[in-house]
Amino acid sequence: MSGTGDGSTLKFAVVGAGPAGFYTVETLAAACPGCRIDLIERLPTPFGLVRSGVAPDHQSTKNIQETFAKIAELPNVRFLGNVEVGRDVTLAELNEIYDAVVLASGAPHDAPLAIPGERLRGVYGAAQFVGWYNAHPDFAALDPMLDRAGAVIIGNGNVAIDVARVLSKSVEELAASDIAAYARARLAVSSITDVHIVGRRGPLDAKFTTIELGELGELKEAVAVADPAQIPETVGDGFSPRDKRVKAKNLDCFQSFAKADAASRARRIRFQFNARPVEILGQERVEAVRFERTQVIAGGVTGTGETFDVPCGMVVAAIGYRAHPFDGLAVAESGDRLRNDNGLIRSGLYVVGWLKRGPSGKIGTNRNDGEEIGARICAEVAISGKPGFAALESLLHKRGVRVTDFADWKMIERAEIAAAPPGAPRQKFARIADMLACLDRAREAVA
Ligand code: NAP
Repeated sequence: MSGTGDGSTLKFAVVGAGPAGFYTVETLAAACPGCRIDLIERLPTPFGLVRSGVAPDHQSTKNIQETFAKIAELPNVRFLGNVEVGRDVTLAELNEIYDAVVLASGAPHDAPLAIPGERLRGVYGAAQFVGWYNAHPDFAALDPMLDRAGAVIIGNGNVAIDVARVLSKSVEELAASDIAAYARARLAVSSITDVHIVGRRGPLDAKFTTIELGELGELKEAVAVADPAQIPETVGDGFSPRDKRVKAKNLDCFQSFAKADAASRARRIRFQFNARPVEILGQERVEAVRFERTQVIAGGVTGTGETFDVPCGMVVAAIGYRAHPFDGLAVAESGDRLRNDNGLIRSGLYVVGWLKRGPSGKIGTNRNDGEEIGARICAEVAISGKPGFAALESLLHKRGVRVTDFADWKMIERAEIAAAPPGAPRQKFARIADMLACLDRAREAVA
């Protein structure tokens, strides 16, 4: 990419190199010929949740990285890794430097359970726990407690299923994954035999997708079980034909889980419905979760007053995520996105992906988002002579920020592939310092 200090082209900064960021870059590059796009990422590694959210045993989902790599290597696109907006450069500065800034950094924080005992040792949010097993530098030191037979996962979405599956797979089943090396070792000696997935609504209200649910019926060392008394015989009425088809497929899975023999395997994934957590019990650490039975009335969840306890040594709350309040920008009342008007925050500042619409949908959902915001920006933003990359580079240089580029990422990737254990695609670095040291070593070797 040539210098970008001229004032004759549109200059864009996209913050966050996950799916929403890449799809936005792709659209801007196609829709605004001649524009320059800087993709700014906090980590030296790109791909966001594809790298650190998608489960390590779902490698085929991660193939989308190849498409994203092609976008990063477009001639008018530049990847700036290891640069944190809010720490290394402010949003106000980016707005001064670029014609438009797009925030695509997702909803990275765990939603709180907001019940007593939430801060006990052994209670984790899904962002923490998934980040731990996926080698996200923020969570590599989590050191979760896997030393008791019981584990409770709260929530009935696909993240809950991912966590249950990773906790229940054998060493052999995880061999072809890119799970963090330390997580592979810890899970190999885990004492967990019973993973309880608990939802506050009924089985037909669960947000699981059928493929993910069905996978739990195919594990080698674990059996998925449900209480027959909680599983209806039919879906019933009151749904659109499409919803009815989806729910019927999930119901097939639950019905087979209700017939399964809990003693047939060494480990169990136990589904429990219509129960909401009211307290995490324990003194030094979590010992159990107290749940209240619920009814769903007119779409709302109501407690019945009846409670029961599920003993466990760890809890993962997979109940959704919260947005990061960037440089004082207003977060929506729901807490999971920034306040925005169909992607616009203020003149020259846009938002896309989970940070725009909340944490929902699949990777491909971000493609529509990226296309919409890209088209909107191209229609609304005019060339204003802003300096773009040249000004950002000088600012980051003055602040001593070590910026990594896409060639650096490729070097990190090669080192991860070279270090892969037998059968695995890669062994991820989990510390930024180790990634940078790997780059130093590679440079020294060339010099
Ligand atoms: P989700 O699908 O929104 O599920 C969140 C779950 O948490 C719901 O069951 C919700 O119940 C429950 N919940 C929320 N607050 C609660 C509380 N205070 N107490 C008890 N339960 C509570 O979220 P997710 O599982 O985090 O997934 C996020 C997105 O990523 C989804 O679109 C998901 O499909 C996607 N994803 C996809 C895959 C895949 O395709 N393989 C894998 C992982 C994630 P209510 O329904 O009652 O609100």
